[in-house]
Amino acid sequence: MDPLEVDLSIIGAGPAGLYAAYYAGFRGLSTALIDSLPEPGGQVAALYPEKLIFDVAGFPAIKGQELIERCVQQAAPYHPRYLLGNRAEDLTAHDDGSFTIRTHRDVEVRTKAVLITGGIGTFTPRPLPDAEAYEGQGLVYFVRELETMRDREVLIVGGGDSACDWALNLEGIASSITLIHRRDRFRAHEDSVSKLMDSSVRVMTFTEVARIEGRDVVERVTVFDNRSEEREILEVNKVVAALGFKSDLGPLKSWDVKIDGRHVLVDTRMQTNIPGVFAAGDITEYEGKVRLISVGFGEAATAVNNAAVHIDPDARVFPGHSSGG
Ligand SMILES: Cc1cc2nc3c(=O)[nH]c(=O)nc-3n(C[C@H](O)[C@H](O)[C@H](O)COP(=O)(O)OP(=O)(O)OC[C@H]3O[C@@H](n4cnc5c(N)ncnc54)[C@H](O)[C@@H]3O)c2cc1C
Repeated sequence: MDPLEVDLSIIGAGPAGLYAAYYAGFRGLSTALIDSLPEPGGQVAALYPEKLIFDVAGFPAIKGQELIERCVQQAAPYHPRYLLGNRAEDLTAHDDGSFTIRTHRDVEVRTKAVLITGGIGTFTPRPLPDAEAYEGQGLVYFVRELETMRDREVLIVGGGDSACDWALNLEGIASSITLIHRRDRFRAHEDSVSKLMDSSVRVMTFTEVARIEGRDVVERVTVFDNRSEEREILEVNKVVAALGFKSDLGPLKSWDVKIDGRHVLVDTRMQTNIPGVFAAGDITEYEGKVRLISVGFGEAATAVNNAAVHIDPDARVFPGHSSGG
């Protein structure tokens, strides 16, 4: 198959990558947007599509999935080529300054510049021990649609943001909600924890899962107090295990870009140590870095405008105003 040829290849279709696709289109650059997940949206779509986000400029509150849909819509007039379900595997630099990216499905993209918006890399949920048999049979790791929990007796396991947010968002939807956490300190936003404590959710600290039971699907869960070993049987039919996720930079680690831990080092233009290879969003590292969607949007704009100059040295970094006025 002939390689796809584009000006800019964007690796990662999370919020930073999607916004970069808009910006590249606005600058007249053709793009390919490569993501190992089957849907665009990165962490936002995969991990908290139903959660309200309060700190994206211009939206006092917006659900994760809606933000992603709007980002996709914003980029759409410029027709980015989506290569979803494709993990970027190899990066080869050519003498003329261009690159070839090969995906794990052997799709090749010839590109004048590269933008890595790989976030936390490819991510998979941390499994609940000895519960494999119930995966998809009442046990889930993400709540993609709150409606799937309507009128259910829900047990949420975990003490992070996802656990607290799902517990709060399911109030009024699930018929009962219990949240267990193995410690008494939560790793969630303070505001969410205090809302949780004031909610109708039953919160059990120092509590862990001993056993899930049910003929084919989850019917009850035995939990225990990890200080006293005292046990209790909870009659639940849905278990949400929000134990965090393992992330891995995967193939990006073998590329020649300079990496610090799990992050790619960039300069003020968002360029890596390889001229023509830029990065933006959660994956970048520099002094004072803050990992937020709004920061990723800004970095994406900086990266694309500097990539435009790399592609055409006569171009200007400043793109002009989109309002055209
Ligand atoms: C529970 C939770 C709540 C959060 N709440 C907020 C909030 O309220 N406000 C806020 O600003 N931020 C929040 N964040 C953080 C926010 O989600 C991230 O800052 C944001 O998603 C980063 O966007 P990104 O595009 O840089 O990366 P990501 O969203 O991580 O997307 C990166 C994409 O790159 C893909 N990828 C990685 N490696 C490859 C490869 N080799 N080939 C192909 N694809 C690859 C991944 O599959 C992924 O889709 C939250 C995070 C979590 C987990």
